[in-house]
Amino acid sequence: MANFVLHVPVNLRCFTVSASSSSNGAPPGGSGSGGGGGPVIVELPLDKIRRPLLRTRTNDPNKVQQLMDSISEIGLQVPIDVLEVDGAYYGFSGCHRYEAHQRLGLPTIRCKIRRGTKETLRHHMR
Ligand code: ADP
Repeated sequence: MANFVLHVPVNLRCFTVSASSSSNGAPPGGSGSGGGGGPVIVELPLDKIRRPLLRTRTNDPNKVQQLMDSISEIGLQVPIDVLEVDGAYYGFSGCHRYEAHQRLGLPTIRCKIRRGTKETLRHHMR
């Protein structure tokens, strides 16, 4: 009977297990974040983003106008933060950028999407 000895290169025996926990308590990766872990930058249609706090916050119209001028000229430089829970998108910040896009009639907005749970969502609604 023959004995086989398998020589595995040292670097193939090293596995790094990344157990990073994001601040939202969600596992890294997932459907909305492309499975690669961490947030992803995506262009989303404005009407796909739910804004639950819309009626409780008012935007500064001067800020919105300034952003409209700037976005028309140089585009959105910093994406808005969006939370994805069970395939639905929620925006709680970036209100001026969002309104500037609406007023400019732009169909989409660049978003930094991170995945969360219903608990994360509840936390944002408080
Ligand atoms: P918001 O409610 O959208 O966060 P703020 O007035 O608090 O509005 O902040 C505006 C943000 O928009 C800043 O973080 C700024 O860096 C960002 N930004 C992105 N694109 C532009 C742009 N083209 N011109 C000016 N600010 C921009």
